[in-house]
Amino acid sequence: MKVLISACLLGEPVRYDGKGKPVTSPILQQWQQSGQLLPFCPELAGGLPVPREPAEIQPDHRIVTHSQLDVTGAFELGARQAQKLVQDHGIKIAIMTDLSPSCGSTHIYDGSFGGRVVEGEGRTVQYLRQAGVRVFSQHQIDQAWQYWQKQVTGCDKGL
Ligand code: SF4
Repeated sequence: MKVLISACLLGEPVRYDGKGKPVTSPILQQWQQSGQLLPFCPELAGGLPVPREPAEIQPDHRIVTHSQLDVTGAFELGARQAQKLVQDHGIKIAIMTDLSPSCGSTHIYDGSFGGRVVEGEGRTVQYLRQAGVRVFSQHQIDQAWQYWQKQVTGCDKGL
C-alpha cells in the first residue's frame, strides 16, 4: 500500500523559498527502498512557481500571499489533484509537512503573517481527509508506520 508524502520531506527543493525540508527516518528509508512512497507537491501541481511568495489561510478561508495576492484557486487545484491521486492509487495514508497552508495536518499559521500558529489543516489535507486518507505530520512517522502495518498485515508491530 503506497504512502503519499509531501515532496519537500524527501528533500525536493519545491518550497516557497526554493528549498526542501528533508526528514531523516529509517521508516521513510525503508518505504522509499521498497517503492512505497509517492511524493507530491500540491502547490507545484496547482501551477505555482518555485520560489514563490509565502501564503497563509485567512479566517474567511481564502488563501493569500504576503502581498495579499489571492492564490486560493491554485491551492484548490493542487488539493483536487492530490485527492484524485489518492483515489486513483487507493492510497489511505499520507505524511505531510506540518504548518503548510497546503500540507499542514495539525497546525497552520493564523493568516496574519506574524508567525503565529493555530490548530488547523492545510487545503490539501482537508481534501485528503475528505477522501478517507489518514494524514500524519513529519513528526508522527512512527504512528504512520504502525497504522500502515495494521492496514497491510492486520497486526500492529513496530519497525
Ligand atoms: S505544498 Fe506541501 S509539498 Fe509542496 S513545498 Fe509546501 S509543504 Fe512541501
